[in-house]
Amino acid sequence: MGEKSDEWKSAIDTTRPSIARAYDVVLHGKDNFEVDRAFVAEIVKVIPEIYDVAAYNRQILDRGVRFMIDQGITQFIDLGSGLPTVENTHQVAQRANPEARVVYVDNDPMVLAHGRAFLAENERTAVVTSDLRDPVAILGDEAVKQLIDFDRPVGVMLVGILHHLHDDEDPQGIVEAYMAAVPPGSYLFITHFCDSSQESRDAEKQYLALLGTGRFRTVAEITDFFQGFELVEPGVVPLPLWRPEADVPEELTVGQRLMFGGIAHKP
Ligand code: SAM
Repeated sequence: MGEKSDEWKSAIDTTRPSIARAYDVVLHGKDNFEVDRAFVAEIVKVIPEIYDVAAYNRQILDRGVRFMIDQGITQFIDLGSGLPTVENTHQVAQRANPEARVVYVDNDPMVLAHGRAFLAENERTAVVTSDLRDPVAILGDEAVKQLIDFDRPVGVMLVGILHHLHDDEDPQGIVEAYMAAVPPGSYLFITHFCDSSQESRDAEKQYLALLGTGRFRTVAEITDFFQGFELVEPGVVPLPLWRPEADVPEELTVGQRLMFGGIAHKP
């Protein structure tokens, strides 16, 4: 990488865990530091299955994107997209429809560096380094306006991110702002840490103490994010139960219930 593209390095704080890098640890990635691995080691003490939970989240992302493609969606805004990993949104979407367009939005400086290098050759994808809590700025961003046609339905993705927003940051208002900008026929895709066991409550405390974010909402609270939209079957459910493509056990483990998700249609 050239001099200019090295600027991001100075923005990286290796003294504290970052959400994007900690997630990279549980996805067995290499873009993380000791401080991120130490954070995950603490979470493993509470949720030994946390690596599996990350895999369930990536699997539903894949199923969810393919579902939206099947409904005719050709453009996606992936908010809080994370570091590039295997089977990113544009790869899943463009395999099904090579014309599909994806804008990734993340505020972690490492996402920009890796994302740009990774996506440089694909003109139907863009990476925007911005704070998703500012929908006006994101929706007005040149890269977003260039790739996304707001007269046509959009897949709005908030996968594994809203639990990193505190209540006083108005996550509901943020969801509403994005959904107000897209036309009828658009979709809203959310996955979220859920207050679903004693272990989930213990994990929430650790996230808050060590990472600074973590709001494990109840199923009812997660479902409220979809207010005004039509949830597609099977509604808001534990991730492995959302349109599964493999057999699911009758009784779910703590890890299998740790995150819930769903997709809704804007009528
Ligand atoms: N969506 C991906 C997935 O589910 O596989 C990645 C989820 S990762 C757990 C959450 C991502 O959201 C991280 O990459 C983090 O940097 C990003 N993030 C957290 N707060 C954000 C904010 N305010 N604005 C933009 N991105 C944010």
